[in-house]
Amino acid sequence: MRNIFYLLILTFLFLSCDEDIANRTVQSETPVLTQVSVIDALLQGFYDGFYPIGDLKLHGDYGIGTFHGLDGEMVIFNDTVFQVKADGNVYILNDTVKTPFAAVAPLIADTAFTFSGLRYDSLKSDFSDYFPTPNIFYLVKIKGEFSYMHTRSVPAQEKPYPPLVEVTQNQPEFTFENVKGDIIGFYCPAYAEGINVTGLHLHFIDESRGKGGHIIDFTLKSGTMQLGYLLDYRLILPDGGDFYGGDFTIDRTDELDDVEG
Ligand SMILES: [Zn+2]
Repeated sequence: MRNIFYLLILTFLFLSCDEDIANRTVQSETPVLTQVSVIDALLQGFYDGFYPIGDLKLHGDYGIGTFHGLDGEMVIFNDTVFQVKADGNVYILNDTVKTPFAAVAPLIADTAFTFSGLRYDSLKSDFSDYFPTPNIFYLVKIKGEFSYMHTRSVPAQEKPYPPLVEVTQNQPEFTFENVKGDIIGFYCPAYAEGINVTGLHLHFIDESRGKGGHIIDFTLKSGTMQLGYLLDYRLILPDGGDFYGGDFTIDRTDELDDVEG
């Protein structure tokens, strides 16, 4: 009798598990923001790449990040990974090159806006005109002609790696006028502090795929912004290395503000 009772319990557990799996399948159909490492690791100077960019592309066709040794700014556009190096030139890398920090997502646009004239400052100050809430993640894609574009890149580093805030004190900056191209990036909510850059974090690649970088400022002359709402988040962390010995108890908000400066 007791055995039958246990058998019933096991059958019940098995059926419940089955239902969980079914639910999970449904959830995975929503677009997932996949992120490699966390921003507080990059701020500490953990620039060793550990995740191949070929694998990164499997999680989405648009994204941003950096490369092993902090070797330039990454823009993933329509499945191609572009490297905007500190020399200002753009390179396409082998899939085996690894990233220490990146975020990627498939673009499923929930809303789109057409602009004739938009300043980066206005996008931030009029945030609620475009984004229904500051409390979820968004993939941001802006295509158009920019009357002004101000970017930076980061020079490759060698060990022992300095913290990011030291590297960005001597970062090459670039300004372009009347340039066509694409902005790719993410918005992360305030509670993502320490994990990713909160607010808007955008990278640029021009139409000829010859210049770009991490965006400091821009003015859009005319173009379209698409937003993909991201409600599902996956984090991929390093299996050892500097990360295991890192100090994640320190509030690095000021350092990040300097870096994003
Ligand atoms: Zn960036």
